[in-house]
Amino acid sequence: MDEATHKCARRRCATQIRMGLLMCPPDWALVPQHIQRAVYRAYRARPRDWAAYAAAVRDAQNAVDATEYPATLQHAATILRARAQAAGGEQWEAHDFTEGTIVRPRSIFRLPPSISSQLHGPDPWRCGPPCVTPEDGVFIATMNPQLAALFADLLEEASAIATANLKNPRQAPRDITKALAVAHEILGSDRA
Ligand SMILES: [Zn+2]
Repeated sequence: MDEATHKCARRRCATQIRMGLLMCPPDWALVPQHIQRAVYRAYRARPRDWAAYAAAVRDAQNAVDATEYPATLQHAATILRARAQAAGGEQWEAHDFTEGTIVRPRSIFRLPPSISSQLHGPDPWRCGPPCVTPEDGVFIATMNPQLAALFADLLEEASAIATANLKNPRQAPRDITKALAVAHEILGSDRA
């Protein structure tokens, strides 16, 4: 039997399903019932109003995407916290020299040994090519591991909000668009 199939409407789902279904059963089960009903209604009316059907399908796709948000935000928070700890976990300061600016105490811009040995000597402090401009140094020091840990807290808060949004599908969801953008920036190619 050679039944016609098509791809599940969930974004990034490659499952082939029979005609007459919108999504594969596991994904369809993630769509809140009131959105499912709206899809059925719009499906029946689509000869008259294709745009309404397309909008209902988008609502269903967005609802399924939203089920991933808590884990995505939590994953980004975990990665950011781990990176902040690996980078020492403390605050940073920019130190300006005439030759350039370095960020301490971790000295993320390593000085060549010959110069580094002079740091505590009588010679004037000098630094080599790894220096940055004072403006970049202040910016880097501002975005320090302590701040990153606070951003991780914010991402975890957003993850809890995303979970609450899922639990109350009939209420207008609280907006977590910016937190998701931050999470995707952190996750990069790790993006779930
Ligand atoms: Zn699917």
